Amino acid sequence: MKIDGACHCGNIKFEAEVDPAKVVICHCSDCQSLSASAFRTVAFVDASTFKLLGAEPKIYIKTAESGNKRLQAFCSECGSGIYATSDEDSPKVLGLRVGVITQRDQLPPSKQIWTSSAQAWVDDMNSLEKVEKQS
Ligand SMILES: [Zn+2]
Ligand SMILES: [Zn+2]
Repeated sequence: MKIDGACHCGNIKFEAEVDPAKVVICHCSDCQSLSASAFRTVAFVDASTFKLLGAEPKIYIKTAESGNKRLQAFCSECGSGIYATSDEDSPKVLGLRVGVITQRDQLPPSKQIWTSSAQAWVDDMNSLEKVEKQS
């Protein structure tokens, strides 16, 4: 599926080919702090289909306990996360941030990973009071 997207301020724009069956929610603690939220939704895409348009993202390198490095690309102006990838010269897969994809309403996740660090309340969100817009 052809998708496009942009960071919140619009300086970074991109296009890619996404497999809608490969969208996951990640509950790892890095995704919680890097997204400043309870979890992150990620679409894994073939890096060769990803076309960056507009400004270059800023890269933050996260080093795991194992020593593995993950490159975290985000907009230096508005802070929106764009993707993460390995630190190889030509990475094959990008973990695209679903929240910056225009067609995100067509990309529901099919799997949750790192549930061992998930916030306890996420399984129970349906029981929370719902307000259509901020009251
Ligand atoms: Zn931006
Ligand atoms: Zn994660």
